[in-house]
Amino acid sequence: MTAIAAARLGYHAHIFCPEADSPAIEVAAAATVAPYDDRAALTAFAEAVDLVTLEFENVPAETLAILAETVPVRPGRGVLEIAQDRRAEKAFFRGIGAGTAPFAAVESRAALADALAEIGRPAILKAARLGYDGKGQRRIGPDEDADAAWAALATDAAILEGVVDFVCEISVIAARGPDGALAIYAPVENAHVDHILDTTRAPARISPDLAEEAVRIARRCAEALDLVGLVAVEMFVTRDGRILVNEIAPRPHNSGHWTLDACPTDQFEQLVRAVCGLPLGVTERHSDAVMTNLIGDEANRWPELLAEPGAILHLYGKTEIRPGRKMGHVTRLAPKS
Ligand code: AMP
Repeated sequence: MTAIAAARLGYHAHIFCPEADSPAIEVAAAATVAPYDDRAALTAFAEAVDLVTLEFENVPAETLAILAETVPVRPGRGVLEIAQDRRAEKAFFRGIGAGTAPFAAVESRAALADALAEIGRPAILKAARLGYDGKGQRRIGPDEDADAAWAALATDAAILEGVVDFVCEISVIAARGPDGALAIYAPVENAHVDHILDTTRAPARISPDLAEEAVRIARRCAEALDLVGLVAVEMFVTRDGRILVNEIAPRPHNSGHWTLDACPTDQFEQLVRAVCGLPLGVTERHSDAVMTNLIGDEANRWPELLAEPGAILHLYGKTEIRPGRKMGHVTRLAPKS
């Protein structure tokens, strides 16, 4: 989608990815298929492009360092290092004064027992690195065996979090250009099923005060990261009316897909504008929207969705349906509230 947005602005996108069947390759001007540690391929790629951006925050830091020897990489390695490690991320949130769930770093089985005594049960044990869509997470309930949870995670670095009593989950997407210009979308409301985003509702059904606070937090994140690019900030709205930050993703985000159909400038074009140093676009929506993901074989509903008046279908062209895999999404618009 970033490649399509770039093409619409007259750019030629060159995709670097390890998978030969990446959907982005279908819609880009050029592609390099190579592992993230292939120095020769990375250098040739870097020499062929004017700048690099990314849609996946777990690109290894070393890969980015190799690219950055030749070409600007936006967002930069420092941003990725924070987003790739839940410990660094939590320290970052503390540093900007944003509230989080109670947490403790856990680096051994013994430390987990101490952390559980401190945080209490139920709690969620999350691997510090390489987690997404609930992968690398274990909920530890009152009767759960903590040692088994630690063994199942198979890691030597994790975070134990208290379970937040939230009324809803929200996210805010902010873009920031090289000159510090900001463009921020309205907070949206996210509902998850099995830890995977199911629907995003724009705007979020929260008070104007909370919406303002969420936008303020997203702005602080973008500025403190010295971001050039896009960041999605995921937050909880607690039953007692506070906002706690959960995590950041420095890339286009699933909870921003609704902007494709409901905003003059969608999140993908906004990313292209930000990293290319162009003026940022309008983030104000012209319609309210509900975006529903098509996970696994839900994508097989496409004939019915195409026949539904007003349903806007996006299929990603992934070659294989797998349970839990995001295959596409459908957006339904309503008059702006
Ligand atoms: P994460 O990978 O951190 O985004 O977690 C995936 C989902 O698990 C979140 O969107 C929440 O629905 C849920 N979750 C994660 N952490 C917590 C927490 N501390 N308290 C309650 N729910 C959580």
